[in-house]
Amino acid sequence: MDLRRAAKVIKDLGLPPYRLDQVRRAVFGHAVSSYEEISVLPMELRAELTRSAAILCLAPREVLVSPDGRARKAALALLDGKVVETVLLRPSPRRWTACVSTQVGCAFGCVFCATGRMGFVRDLTAEEITDQVLFWRRHMLREGLEGGVSNVVYMGMGEPLANYAAVAQSLKDLIDPRQHGIGARHVSVSTVGIPQGIERFAADFPQINLAVSLHAAEDELRSRLVPANRAFPLAELARALERYLGISSRKVLLEYALLAGVNDRARDADALVAFVRRLGRPELFHVNLILYNPTEASLRPTSELEARRFQDRLLAAGLKATLRQSLGADIRGACGQLVSERR
Ligand code: SF4
Repeated sequence: MDLRRAAKVIKDLGLPPYRLDQVRRAVFGHAVSSYEEISVLPMELRAELTRSAAILCLAPREVLVSPDGRARKAALALLDGKVVETVLLRPSPRRWTACVSTQVGCAFGCVFCATGRMGFVRDLTAEEITDQVLFWRRHMLREGLEGGVSNVVYMGMGEPLANYAAVAQSLKDLIDPRQHGIGARHVSVSTVGIPQGIERFAADFPQINLAVSLHAAEDELRSRLVPANRAFPLAELARALERYLGISSRKVLLEYALLAGVNDRARDADALVAFVRRLGRPELFHVNLILYNPTEASLRPTSELEARRFQDRLLAAGLKATLRQSLGADIRGACGQLVSERR
């Protein structure tokens, strides 16, 4: 929903600006599915808005629901026929988290990620990003799911900071109380670690959470798992994070997908401890350990027992670390599993 387009329609028809408020309240407050439902609008305006300012610029192809109902994944077709996936998770009874995509495919090619294997197709627009949230809000209403979308994470397909302008606009629209009204502290952006992007993000959105896909704390190993590390090695990432903390002082999440025999050894845990300590403010980093969700790559997940051992080693060294509950793997909607069949 691009309010700017609706505003133009209203202006072109010579109608007063309060009509835009009526549209805004109905679309964002009540998540209506069509302009026909907004009975306070004149018929002529409803018809013109339907023609020129569609509420959603994407249409569901398929929605999968996990057996326990706590994870849902939707394949959404964009106007040019490309498809992206988005996920809705219920990590706790009072929380619904929408995980949104920012690109069709991704150029960064992390070895454990199905999206990376698609290659880059195109950037999403701000509207295509925020419409994924609007789609879930309407889905929840239709399905009688209570609570609304409380959190949004930019952890779907694509690298958010490589599509900065659209991501920045979508963040502004998401936290705008007159639009989606999601609290800035309930929004997180995850990056593979582009230093300039991190610094720009810190300056523009100091209240929004940052997550970094780390997955290894030694350059040689990280370059194998996350090829972006060759362009932006750990020392550069560390400098960007130090500058980030200088501006934001919000806690940074370090994501670490555990891969059996690859990055889950004692020496890997020790390298991670050393990396966080070098950053100077270890209390502001939280390591989020993820049990790897198998994709086509020939990588195996670490067992839960080994993952606990890895976590204990971090905790013993004074780091904050949690083992993330994995939701959505049964519908291929968990971390690293998003991919679109049609490009
Ligand atoms: S993990 Fe993120 S940055 Fe890496 S290939 Fe997948 S979508 Fe791209």
